Order: sequence, then C-alpha cells, then structure tokens
Amino acid sequence: MSTLLAIKSSVRDLKEAMVLKLQGLGVSPGLAVGRVFWQRKNTARVPETPGKPAGVEEELARFRQALERSRRDLLALKEKVQKEGGESEAEIFDAHLLMLDDPALVGSIEEKIKGEGLNAETAVIQVADSLKATFAAIEDEYLRQRAQDIQDLEERLLGCLSPALPQSEDLPPESIVLAVDLTPSETANLPKERVLGLATVAGGKTSHTAILARGLGIPAVVALGNDLLPAQPGETIILDGNSGTLWLNPDPSTLAWAKSEQERLLKERQELDRLRHLPATTRDGQTVRLMANIGHPEEVELALLAGAEGIGLFRTEFLFLERHDPPGEEEQLQAYRRVAEKMAPHPVIIRTLDIGGDKAIPYLALPEEANPFLGLRGLRLTLARPDLLKVQFRALLQAARFGDVRIMLPMVTDPREIQQARASLEEAKAELRREGRPFNDYVPLGIMVEVPAAALMADLLARQVDFFSLGTNDLIQYTLAIDRTNSSVGDLYNPFHPAVIRLVANVIQVGEEADLEVGMCGEMAGDPAATELLLGLGLKEFSMAPSSIPRVKRTIRQASREEARTKASFKKGPFGSTR
Ligand code: PEP
Ligand code: MG
Repeated sequence: MSTLLAIKSSVRDLKEAMVLKLQGLGVSPGLAVGRVFWQRKNTARVPETPGKPAGVEEELARFRQALERSRRDLLALKEKVQKEGGESEAEIFDAHLLMLDDPALVGSIEEKIKGEGLNAETAVIQVADSLKATFAAIEDEYLRQRAQDIQDLEERLLGCLSPALPQSEDLPPESIVLAVDLTPSETANLPKERVLGLATVAGGKTSHTAILARGLGIPAVVALGNDLLPAQPGETIILDGNSGTLWLNPDPSTLAWAKSEQERLLKERQELDRLRHLPATTRDGQTVRLMANIGHPEEVELALLAGAEGIGLFRTEFLFLERHDPPGEEEQLQAYRRVAEKMAPHPVIIRTLDIGGDKAIPYLALPEEANPFLGLRGLRLTLARPDLLKVQFRALLQAARFGDVRIMLPMVTDPREIQQARASLEEAKAELRREGRPFNDYVPLGIMVEVPAAALMADLLARQVDFFSLGTNDLIQYTLAIDRTNSSVGDLYNPFHPAVIRLVANVIQVGEEADLEVGMCGEMAGDPAATELLLGLGLKEFSMAPSSIPRVKRTIRQASREEARTKASFKKGPFGSTR
C-alpha cells in the first residue's frame, strides 16, 4: 500500500471510531436511525466553458424542448407528491410551472440565445444566476429562500438539455440523505420508502425542503454547518428532527436508546395520524375547535397538516423584525392574504403588532425602559405610533376580502384603548373608501385577554369587542409577578395557580353570558395536562403550536365534558389548589 493510501486509511479508521454529535435546526419532527447517503449535485452536465452554439434556431429548439420536458416532469412530480398526501406541498410545483411561463425567466433565456449567440445551457445558467442574486439580496427570509426555486428550475432545465448524462445514484434502503442543500424537486423525488431522514448543511425553517419534509413525514434537520461534511457514506447516523440533534457513529447505548425511542414514536405517530381528520369531540359529545398559532405565513402548511380548523393567533412581529424600516402596506397585505386564502373558509385571527417587552425593533428608536414588560408594549406602543397601526389596519381590511380574517389587539388593559384602536380602524376604512380600494367593511375586532385588569373587567370589555382570546403566557406572568423570561423564577411560573384559574374561569363565563366567542392562544391551550381543566371551565376554542394539536385532540377525545366540569368546579372554587 502506498504511504498516501496508508495515511488515508488510518485517518478513516480513526474517524470511524469517532462519535460526532452535531446540533442543527429541527424542521420536521421524528427520530430516524439509518445510514449516510450523500446526495451530490450532478454538476457534470453544466458546460465549463460556454461555447458558441451550432445555430441559434437549433439552440432555441433545444431550449424549448427542455422547457416542455420540464413541464411534463413537474406535472408528474406534483401528482406524486399529491398521492403521497402532500396536497398543499404539491403547490410548490405549481409555482415552478408558473415560473416556466414567466417572461423574466423564459424570455430572458431566449433573448440571450438570440441576441448574444449563447448556447442554451449557458443562457440558462446566466439568467438563473442573475435571478438568484436578486432574490438573495432581499431582506425578507421567505422571499430570499425563493432563490432555491430558481436553482431547482435551473438544474431541471440543464438536466433536460443533457438527458444522456448519468442520473443520481441508487439510494440504498434505510438511508438518511445528507446534502449541502436540497431543492424541492430533489426532496420530492426521493423514494420515500427508502429515506428515513434528511440532514443538510444549509437551509432554514421556511425553506421548501423543510416544508416538504414535514409534509412527507420525513424527519429532517437543517443548518448543521460544515461539521456534517466529514460524514462518510454508509456510516450509522441518528437524526432527531424534534431537537435538531444528529449523532454520527453513535455508541451502542445511544443507538439502543434511539431504536427503542424510534419504535415508540412510530406507534404514537400512527395513532395520532388516525385522529387528524376526526373531530375534537369528547366522549359525551362536546365538540371544540382546535386552531393553530403561527408566526409566519409559511407555517399555515403545518397548521393544515396538523388538522387545524383555523388560525387562533397569527403573530405579525415577523414582518417587522430583522430589517431597517417597517414593512409597507402591500407587503403586509400579501402576507395576510396568503394565510387567509390558504386557511379559507376557516377563521384567521391576526394580531396587530405586539412589540416591546422582550422584543425590540431598533429602527423604531424607542426609549430605554427599566421594566419593558410593564412599558410601551403591544397596543400601547401602536397607539403611541398611530402610523404603524393605521398601515396594519389598512392591510388587514384589504386582506379580509380573501378569507375570514379577524383582527386582534394585544395587551389591552383599558376600554379606552379599544375605543382609540377602533377609531383608527374606522379612519383606515374611510381612507380606503376615499381611495377606491376594495376592502371588507365588516371585520370582527377582538382582544387578547392577557393582563389581569382585562380579565377582571371582562364584562365591561365584552360590550366593545367581538371576541376574546386568553393569552395565558402573559396572564400568568402579570398575575403571579413572574417574569416569563427569567429562568431563576421559572419554577414559580404556574398555569394552574388558583389565581390564574379564577381569571380564566371568569373570562370564559363572561363570554358565555355575553354570547361572545372565547378562545385561548397561550401555551396552556396546547398543554394536554391542562386540556381537561379547560374543557371543564367551558373553553371551546383552543389555539396552539401545530405540533401540539394531535396530542390535545387525543386528550379531548378521551375526556368527558361532564366529568371535566365537576373536576373544574373544585379547582376554581375557594379552595382551588395549585396541584
Ligand atoms: C400570550 O401572552 O399568551 C400570547 C399568546 O402572546 P405572546 O406569547 O405572543 O405574548
Ligand atoms: Mg402575550
């Protein structure tokens, strides 16, 4: 053996013995134990030096044929994803099909072939590069991720232009597919029965790959960084899509733990999957509505997959964070519209900006506060900055034409705040009317009940609004004087404290008497340990992280409303215990 080979093989032996634990971003839940398979890009088909084509007409014909073939392939891919249960994920390929008709792509490529005499491959690469650069420069993460769609189309077109080149290698069974990044087509094309998990060096929560993986039920971890690169084909790998952890060459005890955990999770998932399209009805016939909390329009897909019957809280802060100036009306309108349309006919409760507390926006240049949670936060802030509130109202009113949109105000403590907000909403309507812009004149206006003052005065506030939503995260913090972000008092943060339960009970009861819808969108709504109590208190709308829906539904279907009511009456009574 040559010296070089000997060194290589001893390095390899060392590596094989090495256990590697990496941390990434878990984007699709589940635990997978399998073997490394690297998905490499087929770059061989990309010509290194763009040569002059044989003839413009010939190149145009080659390009148009590739376009046609791409269309056919995309339709077939879309059908495959639909059949595998990803109805909404399949829409990604609708977007690709639309792009194939877009003059910015097709027209520009043809122009390059005709005007610059480039061959079809080079024209495709140049136009795709310039579009990718445009997308990559956009601040909005969702739009930035769309550069990946262009990349996907580019590879598809290049593949169709040189079909004789080798296709991707055969994937062995029980593979965990590793890649620097995966395009939606690559993800959808994976033979699902042989892929146990996906792990990528790059990627983010909202990349299409992440969404597809979730839709296909394949555990996935992204953003693992370059530390993933040394993984060798065939090595054993454990991937935890919940925590985002990945073990390479795990030791025997970790492997044994993972295998038994995998079996347990699989059984549970099969059980929960069966519930997806069943109603959230108790044994004695009480049906409640389970809705989802989302913080980005992309998450609607997750909500639908989990069987959510609406969005109980759409936090709009994502639009305002990590940028240099506030989002304009059109940008907001598109984000709200996307959610409203996807969720129709179910309701979508969109909350106006809740900034302050632990969330800051540097470009608003707000004064430093000693106690930001007790300061200019939520509605207080937007009333102090009417420009922000008005633009958001205008966007919401227009988006409400496309679905059942409802507007929710955060951090309300006083009836006057609602009156001021309503005045701003009416002004926004008057402006839109004057400008001749179409909007929905009747959009329900509700409030978060998350401050003890609001919970205690629920009867007065009920006269001014169309619905309540209990925000227990803050209600607990403000009732028990426990900073929700301070881990040294974390033990005292107790959703079952009698003071909290009494406030929750009061709001639900006021809602019943005033015939007002009362939901809950704080974390408590997604905690199966609280489900029976909340049912017993009469709560009929629970909104939570999409991933919590199946377990809460299972708890509801096992519960009895009558038994829950009896148990709850002890909890909220004068001797209510803290468990
Ligand atoms: C809450 O306070 O319960 C809530 C849902 O709002 P956030 O967590 O965004 O403050
Ligand atoms: Mg809150």
